[in-house]
Amino acid sequence: MGKINQAVRVRYAPSPTGHLHIGGARTALFNYLFARKHGGNFIVRIEDTDRARHVEDGIVSQLEGLRWLGLTWDESVDTPATAYGPYRQTERLALYQSHVDRMVAEGWAYPCYCTEEEIKHAREQQELRGETPHYNGKCRTLTAEQQQQYNVEGRKPSIRWRVLAGRTYTITDEIRGYISWTSDEIGDWVICRADGMPTYNFAVVIDDVAMDISHVIRGEEHLSNTPRQCMVYEALGVTPPQFAHLPLILNEDRKKMSKRDATIVQFIQQYRDLGFLPQTLVNFMALLGWSSGAEQELFDLETLVSHFDLTRVSKSGAIFDTAKLHWMNNHYLRTVDEAHVVDVAIPLLSQGGRMQIVAQAVPSRSGECAEEDARVRTRAWVHDLVRLYLEPMQYVAELVPWSAMYIYEEVAYEAEAEALLQETYVLGMLQVCAQVFGEMDDWDAPSVSRGLKCVQQQTGHKGKTLFMPVRAALTGVIHGRDLAQTLALIGQTGCVRRLAQTIGRLEIGNTLKNR
Ligand code: GLU
Repeated sequence: MGKINQAVRVRYAPSPTGHLHIGGARTALFNYLFARKHGGNFIVRIEDTDRARHVEDGIVSQLEGLRWLGLTWDESVDTPATAYGPYRQTERLALYQSHVDRMVAEGWAYPCYCTEEEIKHAREQQELRGETPHYNGKCRTLTAEQQQQYNVEGRKPSIRWRVLAGRTYTITDEIRGYISWTSDEIGDWVICRADGMPTYNFAVVIDDVAMDISHVIRGEEHLSNTPRQCMVYEALGVTPPQFAHLPLILNEDRKKMSKRDATIVQFIQQYRDLGFLPQTLVNFMALLGWSSGAEQELFDLETLVSHFDLTRVSKSGAIFDTAKLHWMNNHYLRTVDEAHVVDVAIPLLSQGGRMQIVAQAVPSRSGECAEEDARVRTRAWVHDLVRLYLEPMQYVAELVPWSAMYIYEEVAYEAEAEALLQETYVLGMLQVCAQVFGEMDDWDAPSVSRGLKCVQQQTGHKGKTLFMPVRAALTGVIHGRDLAQTLALIGQTGCVRRLAQTIGRLEIGNTLKNR
């Protein structure tokens, strides 16, 4: 790796065309880790010159996603002004314009008056001849008079880079090593559109120079842009920063992950809304291309900072392993304070009115503090639910379907549960159970256990022959989490009511059978 002998200044430079994507977030993370590791600055620069794809709340959303992940920045659109700012490209247009003018004046670039149709036509001709399409150079050698003529006609030129023939551009990428391109592969390219907007490849260099960026750490998809950027560095007479191109993220079919990949949740906010923890995402994304070299896979942000090293980033694509992501989130969910998981669960469960139903079902005192009391009890209920499911839970939103059997009156009976309920001994046992449950004064998991013990003593049924039909009658399934805790969550009223319904149904069935 190149020696770090200048102040480290790195940037994450999103184009706010949408929410924070997992690929962008990985780039941001690697920049953050590198900056923190070397005591440098992490900059978030907003590259919003592509007005056609601009999404207004894109900036807020990008920053919100980074903040949620804990990737704090030193300089951006919301930090105190510095000599390096502003940090939004559309606020820097005058700077780009002055450089565009300079490039034209020095002959590195020239105005191009070709219309879109002319360019398209020339490209089609090249394709017909089997050539790689590139700008045909029509405006390269226009005389001042010809340019003047076009100007008089009212044509607005774009500005094109005059690619020098027979040049080689090289970089030593921190991850990929020595890479070279010949200029003959590249046609004259636009640095500034007719509407005055600079293009990405030009503006990015002006900004990276102006902002003293020491290392450009970004996705591999930008590697092919690098020779164009090298040309601008050459013209400016500036040594390019160190480049580090992060490996592509691949889906499980080992194909480049696309934003339309339905098998992968794409956006950081979606992960948050599903109840993934930020520490999971940080840890998981760090391993998308980087490894510590040891067996260790679990890292918090601080440990990542101390272990991170660009030389340990791989060249080959990083496979997005959803099962691993789930495993990791399960690990962190079980590691963090349970109260935190409850905090995440409550808004999720509140959707669809579930919490109101819970609030009604949880026995509560009436009176002055009724509202607060209901809140506390409802929270305690959610806490019990969380505790019961913490072991299998991969993300908190799974609680939403899982909670249905505790909340809704209507029980959906699986075929296996229904078959079990039809066994002859079951009706009598459930009748005893209904009586015992109905008479209990307390209703929590230990008292439910005592109640079940009592049913066992009265009926002689124990173990599976007791638990399975009780579970089947009350939840509609024959396997599940701890039975006493499950019944505690359904609540005494709910359990007694469900038992009565099942008993009624079985009695009717028997009467019909005996006719
Ligand atoms: N705006 C570019 C993007 O969103 C940044 C590329 C770079 O880091 O140079 O991909």
